[in-house]
Amino acid sequence: MFDLSGKVAIVTGGNGGIGLGMARGLAGAGAAIVIAARNAEKSRAAVRDLEARGASASAVETDVTDEKSVAAMVEAAIARCGRLDILVNNAGTNIRRPAHELGTADWHKVLDTNLTSAFLCSKAVHPALKRNGGGKIINIGSMMSIFGASFAPAYAASKAGIVQFTKSIACAWARDNIQANAVLPGWIDTDLTRRARDEVPGLNENVLRRTPTGRWGAIDDMAGIAVFLASPASDFITGAAIPVDGGYSVQG
Ligand code: NDP
Repeated sequence: MFDLSGKVAIVTGGNGGIGLGMARGLAGAGAAIVIAARNAEKSRAAVRDLEARGASASAVETDVTDEKSVAAMVEAAIARCGRLDILVNNAGTNIRRPAHELGTADWHKVLDTNLTSAFLCSKAVHPALKRNGGGKIINIGSMMSIFGASFAPAYAASKAGIVQFTKSIACAWARDNIQANAVLPGWIDTDLTRRARDEVPGLNENVLRRTPTGRWGAIDDMAGIAVFLASPASDFITGAAIPVDGGYSVQG
């Protein structure tokens, strides 16, 4: 039910953090992984990490905000691996400033990287998934898909948008046997949140106090949900937004 042997997955931003945690999960279930990110050196290290676990992995230098680069990503994945079954739209960024201090260029940067990228990549893989008779798209939202964020309005808007975009492609592509779901991670220890801990006073204490499990998530906490949503086990689940948050979103 969870077997991904013979399947090929693109993981955007898979060269570190949550993307790498998900790539490890998918690789462990048998999928070949194509990491799509900008930093080639970091991607090479992630490929080595996956190969050391016995996986088949490669990287393609990609800017997910650039339609041409995204088209080249899909072409390279199919040329190398012969097919495409799974897309994880994980690449993301944040610029932490309240709305009254946030510049328009910064607003667009966050929206382009977190939301428009998911549109570009999903649209680009759709023909290949349809040709295969189906596929899986996993979009990464956030707790800020649910909650407001006084210090990150563009991020929260982009992550709320991810949920509605997921529902929309889930409806549109269900008859193509493509399931699209969103994952809403809680506070996971990555480069992105390490920076946030420095920039947002009291964040670490708040996360520990508010998260019922009493800890930050590790990137490997994201592996199971990736396997579930990429595998036949989730074939009747589409358009869902699933928190993986140690209970953060249900704590009153
Ligand atoms: P990281 O900073 O570790 O990872 C972000 C990844 O996105 C990097 O691999 C980066 O690679 C890639 N990326 C950024 N911009 C682009 C671009 N233009 N083109 C291609 N790749 C890009 O952070 P996380 O692992 O924490 O974040 C991963 C996702 O999870 C994001 O969408 C984030 O919003 C989300 N998330 C994270 C949470 C957390 O607590 N950590 C909580 C909720 C959601 P490179 O620089 O090489 O391009």
